[in-house]
Amino acid sequence: MTIKLYLDDDSRPFWEGAKDQKLMIQQCEECQKFIFYPRILCPHCFSEHVKWVEASGHGRIHSYTVVHKAMPPFKDQTPYVVGIIELNEGVRMMSRIVGERDQISIDKPVTVVYEKIDDEVTLPYFQLSET
Ligand SMILES: [Zn+2]
Repeated sequence: MTIKLYLDDDSRPFWEGAKDQKLMIQQCEECQKFIFYPRILCPHCFSEHVKWVEASGHGRIHSYTVVHKAMPPFKDQTPYVVGIIELNEGVRMMSRIVGERDQISIDKPVTVVYEKIDDEVTLPYFQLSET
């Protein structure tokens, strides 16, 4: 599987963090709220003072679906689960949910795991966890 990332300065810390097995999100230095996806302005108070911080890696399943038809490079991996994860920090992130598919349900706790695709790309996925 090959995935081409189109990095820019706004998203690079997220992808560099994933390579180091760190889930990076932004936090506003004015209102302290967490931010994801990456932006140059806080969406809550419009401050330009946003910083990168490492998230806990824990959250809950807000929603999910089972993918049966996928585009390359994922089409060989169907069926798989993609979900919206609400991190403990309050932001929501779309990602793969791995593990026993019949155990996955809304509101269950998940923890980040990392899938190294190649030397350039590591994807943060989530798996069911106790808390
Ligand atoms: Zn703010």
